[in-house]
Amino acid sequence: MKFIDMHCDTLMYAATSGVSDLLEVQGSMLDIKRMKASGASAEFFAIFFPPLEGESFELAGRTFSDEEYFNLLYKCYKKTMQQGKDDIAEAMNADDIVRNELAGKMSGILTLEDGRMIDGSLEKMKQYYEMGIRLITLTWNQENCFGFPNSTDATIMNKGLTPFGKEAIEYMNDLGIMIDVSHLSDGGFWDVAALSKKPFVASHSNCRALSPHQRNLTDDMLKKLAEKGGVAGINFAPMFLNPDITIMDSKVEQLSLHLQRMIHVGGEDLPALGSDLDGIGGNLEISCISKMDMLFERLKKDGLSERIIEKIAYTNALNVIKETMK
Ligand SMILES: [Zn+2]
Repeated sequence: MKFIDMHCDTLMYAATSGVSDLLEVQGSMLDIKRMKASGASAEFFAIFFPPLEGESFELAGRTFSDEEYFNLLYKCYKKTMQQGKDDIAEAMNADDIVRNELAGKMSGILTLEDGRMIDGSLEKMKQYYEMGIRLITLTWNQENCFGFPNSTDATIMNKGLTPFGKEAIEYMNDLGIMIDVSHLSDGGFWDVAALSKKPFVASHSNCRALSPHQRNLTDDMLKKLAEKGGVAGINFAPMFLNPDITIMDSKVEQLSLHLQRMIHVGGEDLPALGSDLDGIGGNLEISCISKMDMLFERLKKDGLSERIIEKIAYTNALNVIKETMK
């Protein structure tokens, strides 16, 4: 079945194992060859920034500045689109995705996970937009210029966006960059909900009512997200799926329960896919992109109609892309 997956971390392989494109990546959960076999229509490729230790960070025995790291992953993404051009092309908006499909191609959408490189500057945001960034996950698990992360510490969790973060929401709406609240504090979520004139997304977050991890969304948040026309992409990580967050099994049965909860709480336009492949570990039933059909089969078995499954897989994500990306 055709689908849009709103989060993967596969570009990290450019830094961790030195690949120069993602056509075929040994040991990964996703690459262009397996995407093609999976029936994918579009994949969001995140440039995920590991936590800084001072001015730089260590990854796979190497020291990176944010800029060196960004450039390396960006180059890998561009080379993937160039070398894989018969199968995949970059998409900046929904029209591009549809156009690529008509040409028999999949789409790649480039995103930033942790907006810290924006550095409190709308000017820089514009530069990244011009380089093709179409979604920014405002924070990862540390404070940055936009706001504060999800946390077990209630003081941090209740903190809202920074003054720059608030200003950035309107700018992102106007510019055509999708706003992603996955990883953000609850306070930040409610600020985005109050300020954004366009739909926003939680690209890879689940239901806190079913799995109590603070990265997940409460029912009230799911409701608000739906009310704003946004989507939540289901994350395959065991710790965001199970009632006991120490269990390391990720099963399609659990994925289905979360998706059904999203529909129950926020309606059938809310759920989407945000696998987080290559950013997660554990015993994953869907351990690579080519097994995605296992999820759709499970949903069917659980009584969801073909029409609803198609919305989860594809249409809900496409509609929010239409509303937010230019
Ligand atoms: Zn993430």
